[in-house]
Amino acid sequence: MSTITSHASSKLNLLDCSRAELDRLFPDRPYRGSQIFSWVFGKGVRAISQMTNIPKEQRLRIAQEAEISYPKAAGRQVSEDGTEKLAYQLMDGRIIESVLIPEKDHWSVCVSSQVGCAMGCRFCFTATMGFTRNLTSGEIVSQVLYPIQTYPDRQFRNVVFMGMGEPLLNYEMVIKAANIITDPDGPQLSKRRLTISTCGIVPALADLARDTDCGLAVSLNAPDDDTRSELMPINRKHPIPELIRALKAYELPNRRRITVEYVLVRGVNDSVEHARRLIKVLHGLRAKVNLIPFNPWPGCGFEAPDLKSIAAFEERLKDSPYTVMLRKEKGKDILAACGQLAGGKVNGSREPH
Ligand code: SAH
Repeated sequence: MSTITSHASSKLNLLDCSRAELDRLFPDRPYRGSQIFSWVFGKGVRAISQMTNIPKEQRLRIAQEAEISYPKAAGRQVSEDGTEKLAYQLMDGRIIESVLIPEKDHWSVCVSSQVGCAMGCRFCFTATMGFTRNLTSGEIVSQVLYPIQTYPDRQFRNVVFMGMGEPLLNYEMVIKAANIITDPDGPQLSKRRLTISTCGIVPALADLARDTDCGLAVSLNAPDDDTRSELMPINRKHPIPELIRALKAYELPNRRRITVEYVLVRGVNDSVEHARRLIKVLHGLRAKVNLIPFNPWPGCGFEAPDLKSIAAFEERLKDSPYTVMLRKEKGKDILAACGQLAGGKVNGSREPH
């Protein structure tokens, strides 16, 4: 085994390795990397001693230099609607959160890509934490592996990068994690069922189209630059016309559509006139629209629109070529809905799992 050391401990964490990196560790044994990949990401073993198709003395040698180290499960809250928020403590003590969302016949996992976020969107609770650091690929992948191992009777089928952080600002690790999650020897989730959600980091979009065929969601949230810049500072750097141009150039496989997310905020972007302008802005784009009524959090200055305004907005959009879906607010009572994750900032009373 050639030597690499990881920053967090003196041993290499195999969870942080891609298939190619594992292969490179064993240059004279071409199958060894694949064997380890299947044990770590497919079968989910947590000890090198359990890799029984590797000779024992080899296992002992590998264990001297490498380990399988998961973030610590640090809390679990269950919402009235069945949604669960999980907290994990990372090696450096930081806390991140994931959300498990029950659907009709399967579960979705909403994963974080960063500790905090630097984007400063004014409606988002995570933004109030500021940015601390990027997650490693292992810290992202373990948010999928942990629920699969802990709840074997649940069908985890969808993974969405809609938790804490801006995935495209942790590009390398997000792509690495997405490749592992969808690897046939790993947890085997379908690429069609993995969606990366971004606030619109335009330069990264061209790379993304080239590097993965996962789904793409974009948080548009307003149909004009004035309103969007007010809500999302990133719009000053990459305004709507530039973003839409990049999205039109973005090619999803099998004629899949880009999901356009639109958080409805009372009195800010929720009028029928906004809906009309949204249709105009999306003209020529293969997209579907996902409406998300604003989820409040402690100290926020915004409110969700009333039901009548939400219905009127939705109605106006139905009169367009775009499929529109109103996202159900799941896990709102435990601050697990969109934009409510902040690593236990308000809820210090979580029970250990
Ligand atoms: N940074 C990425 C992913 C995290 S945010 C992105 O911007 O897409 C995931 C989604 O939650 C985004 O569509 C965002 O607009 C939405 N969101 C953020 N705060 C929200 C809130 N308080 N209520 C409803 N949706 C919110």
